[in-house]
Formats: sequence, structure tokens, C-alpha cells
Amino acid sequence: MDCGSGLLLLLTRRMRDLGPGQGLLVRTEDASVPSDLLDWSRLAGHEFAGQTEQGDDGAWHVLVRRGDDGTTLAAGVDSAGPDAVPRENPGPGQGRPGSGQTDTTFTSGSATPVGERLWIYTNFHCNLACGYCCARSSPAADPRLMPLSLTEAVAAEFAALGGRELFVTGGEPFLHPQIAETVAACSSRLPTTILTNAMVIQRGARRRALESLDRDRVTLQISLDSADSDLHDRQRGDGSHARALEGIQTVLGLGFPVRIAATWFDDEPAAGAAWTALLDRWQIPEPDRLVRPVARQGFAEEAGGGEQVTVDSLAPEPTVTADGIWWHPVAVTDPVMQVADAPLPLAAALDTIRDTVAVQDAARREGRRHVFRCA
Ligand code: SF4
Repeated sequence: MDCGSGLLLLLTRRMRDLGPGQGLLVRTEDASVPSDLLDWSRLAGHEFAGQTEQGDDGAWHVLVRRGDDGTTLAAGVDSAGPDAVPRENPGPGQGRPGSGQTDTTFTSGSATPVGERLWIYTNFHCNLACGYCCARSSPAADPRLMPLSLTEAVAAEFAALGGRELFVTGGEPFLHPQIAETVAACSSRLPTTILTNAMVIQRGARRRALESLDRDRVTLQISLDSADSDLHDRQRGDGSHARALEGIQTVLGLGFPVRIAATWFDDEPAAGAAWTALLDRWQIPEPDRLVRPVARQGFAEEAGGGEQVTVDSLAPEPTVTADGIWWHPVAVTDPVMQVADAPLPLAAALDTIRDTVAVQDAARREGRRHVFRCA
């Protein structure tokens, strides 16, 4: 690892485990790391205590001691970063599918300040196995179910910390056996959005779960990659488009707020005009339309497609799973994106993220970071 590929987050995590004056010994075979650690130590308020010459094994050893007050720059820096702006993407309303611009079509916007929005993975299994799934979800995936009691504790802590909204995702959340109670635990505390493929909600217990949700507090964000079945079914499986349309009509008919999200590889903007026309017909407001690029994570990484995302380049969107806390919901299969080994407490993990962002921004005053919007 180097400081551009996740080492910074790992260092920040480990230093937070130490007391003032205690040392962290870093072994590296990357020649850039010793000099980067010298800069990082200064920026983060730690002491660079020395380094060895390169050994016969090709490695350097660097010793960093935690600073006296054990704090970093985060306290003085806006958690979104001083200049946390999107890459050279268009502003809201520009570059939309069908707008005539074909160079950039993905939804963008400002980074969400750390602590305002929290993502919760309720489970990792899914009725689909989309070729670009960043979570490696499928019918055969380990469900890694989020227990209801844990969701309650996470939602309660996040609300107490001043959080403003919760996003429930997976996998397919409606496969969670207690999805109604899980969402109620969230929406009773904060406005909540569920990301779903809307394919398993038509009848039975899942239909009843959907109908029980609070329409004033719950939004459904439904995946629809294209107006006709070609692109959607190619990416998500035969027949999935027709069932998604059916699900969208069900959710609209029940009176829920609906957001529609498409996911595209770079070379699919041709689908945009028809997608926009369909959403116009359904009278989905502009702010409730989202076009996301594929992130090169999970299945997409194995297929070699999508946008590269790293801790260094990606604006954080803290994400809780049953087994930890992560930098961003598109990166929950990437070990270098893991912020904490347990889902609670949230406060320490949010501080780790803020510390990491603060040092990144101090090191790179331009602070430009890719805002990868999943909602
Ligand atoms: S992208 Fe969504 S719908 Fe597709 S397999 Fe992954 S979780 Fe399921």
C-alpha cells in the first residue's frame, strides 16, 4: 500500500488506538512511503521518530509517535473538506441524460458532510446478480444480515450524533426477514430511503412490509437502467426490466415518494433520452432522478469495468454493515476501505473518517475529491 491507495486510512485508524507518545512501526517496500509519512506526521500532529535504510529484504521501517494531544486537524476543518467539490462534472440539471450533452452524463453534486448521512447494509443477498454489483450480491451470497437490535442501536446513535438521514441498502433489502421493523427503526428516528430493485414487493409478506412503511418518512429509490429492456436486462438479468416497471407502478400507486436510479458504464449514454422521457411521463421530479457510473468494485472489478475508486479520491459516505464500518457504500468488499472492524460505536469511526479527510485536504489544498453519489 501507499498513501494514495488506502494506507492513510489504515494509519489514521491505528494511531487512534494509541496513547500519546506511543509508537506505530510501519514496514514498507514502497519508496514513496517514508517521505509521505514525514509529511503525514507533521500534518496530523504526530512525531516522525525515524526511519531505517532500505534493508536486504527491500523494506524500510518508519517509526511514528502519536502526538501529545492525540488530536489531528479534523477539529478545525469542515468535515466535507474545505474544497470538497465534484470533479469536473456538470452542476445540477446539466449533463442529464437526453440533455444533448454526451461527454458527461452522471449525476453529481456537492459532497455530503460527514455525519449527516449514514448508509446501512441490511443484508448482502439479492434476487439478482447484476454484472456490475459492487457488493457481490446474488441469490447465493452470504446474507450477512443486520440484526434488528443492531439497526436500532445504529440508528439511535446516529440520530443522537446529529445525523440527518439514513439510507438502507443491500443486497435487496426486502429479502431481509424483518425489513418492516428494520426500516421502522430507522424512519422513527430519521427520514429514510430504501434502495431496492422493486422486484420482490408485489405480494405476500414483503408487500405487507412495504405497505406498513411510513409514507411521510420513507422514500423508495428504485433501480431502472433504461426505458426499454435492452440495457437493463443485459446488465441485470432477463426479465428484470418488466418486473422493475411493475414494482415502480406498485410503489407509486401506494403513494410513496420515489427516486429512480440508473447505473451505466461510460459507454451507455445513448440510453439517456428515452430514460428521461419515461421519467417525464411518470412525472418524477428532476432531483429524484439519478444516473450513477459503475464503480470498479465487487463484480465490476472482476469484469475489469467501471470507475476506479480509492480512499484518496472518493468523498466519504459512511456505511455500516453487520461486520464493520466502511468509507463508502460502493466499497464494502474492499478491505482497504474499511474504517472499523465493528458496526458500533459510530462516533469513533466518523472521527477516523474526518481525521483522514482533514489530512488529505491539508496535504492537497485544492481538496478535489470525486463525489460518487449513490442517492
Ligand atoms: S446491483 Fe443491486 S439489484 Fe443488482 S445484484 Fe447488486 S444489490 Fe442486487
